[in-house]
Amino acid sequence: MIWYPYQQMKKMDPPYKIVDAQGVYLHTEDQTLIDSVSSWWCMIHGYKHPELTAAIQAQAGKFCHVMLGGLTHQPVEDLSNKLAEFLPGDLDYCFFSDSGSVGVEVALKMAVQYYVNLGTPRPMVLALEHAYHGDTFRAMEVGDDEDYHLAFPNKRDVVHIPTEISALEEAFAQYHDQLNCVLVEPLLQGAGGMRMYDISFLKRARELCDEYGVLLIFDEVATGFGRTGNRFVADLVLPDILVLGKALTGGYIGHAATVANHKVYDAFYSDDPNHALMHGPTFMGNALACAAALKGIEIFEREDYMAKIQKIEAISKREMLGFADPRIKEVRVMGGCTCVEVYDPKDLAGFQEFAYQRGVFSRPFLSYMYSMVPYIIQEDELVKIFDTMKAWFRR
Ligand SMILES: *Cc1c(COP(=O)(O)O)cnc(C)c1O
Repeated sequence: MIWYPYQQMKKMDPPYKIVDAQGVYLHTEDQTLIDSVSSWWCMIHGYKHPELTAAIQAQAGKFCHVMLGGLTHQPVEDLSNKLAEFLPGDLDYCFFSDSGSVGVEVALKMAVQYYVNLGTPRPMVLALEHAYHGDTFRAMEVGDDEDYHLAFPNKRDVVHIPTEISALEEAFAQYHDQLNCVLVEPLLQGAGGMRMYDISFLKRARELCDEYGVLLIFDEVATGFGRTGNRFVADLVLPDILVLGKALTGGYIGHAATVANHKVYDAFYSDDPNHALMHGPTFMGNALACAAALKGIEIFEREDYMAKIQKIEAISKREMLGFADPRIKEVRVMGGCTCVEVYDPKDLAGFQEFAYQRGVFSRPFLSYMYSMVPYIIQEDELVKIFDTMKAWFRR
């Protein structure tokens, strides 16, 4: 028996069974669906991309995996070099892991140990209300999920603030000497409800972090690789540690990278063995994942994905901004993400099946109906997704 995610198993509708997938399309036995959520936001090049498939096959012909403890290999060396060049600033040191949640754990561990190694431990993390950073415990702890608050009420060393500069300044005034890091999903908070906020907040966060020596961590597991209309939000405001996941491998194999700048790395680099980063996921630097990521980044650059995303954003705005209904609280668009927020979650009950019947796979949650499309999507396919959303309110 499969135990499915985020589901009351007793009440769950049977999931759609996928038998094939290509480009933006998912195929069930009897339906063809445009995947409007890119398999939880990662499948940016679409399914069964011949180059990605070939890159994985070629690596599988050599070896699929070797551990990074005491061993290394070409794909992981190439990927770390590529990321150092591809990412802004001096984000040059890549620690690999098997999922975004673990990548966030590694970043938080780095931030804690950074101050331990400097001899001035700092216990606290500043995070955002509605934050989502993954499903492992520490990542959940810095997340701001109500279910977690209910189950685990003691969150002593995490402070949550709204995305307002005044709240940021107040938190720094109160806790600046205790904070080891500020951790944010920059510009776009995904699982917390596709909430979009202004770059000025991040610029101020950078200033305050510099002033008080606090590390700034961007969780770009969802926003990285173009989703906000920027390659990385880190291109606009430079963090000390950047976490990548989801689209890193084009969604073909789970993998993540926690990328630190020189300042962070230097605090671990010493003659003292206790200053080393004691972490090592079994599948870190998996060779198949590295091969997929390298090929994915090559395609991203070569095919000018940023231009594709700008076009997706322009079409999304044209089709969706201004669409109104008494049940809709707000329609918002940023880069390759569009969200229709309703007042009452009940108004979205049944939308998934409605969309299925019209050839679109959608997965609304709470009061959010959204799209996070693969970047290879064509205009008519994108318009079909939005027409389906609008048709639901016009029934
Ligand atoms: C999905 C997500 C994660 C967790 O990644 P997993 O690979 O599911 O562990 C962490 N942070 C953000 C912002 C995410 O969207």
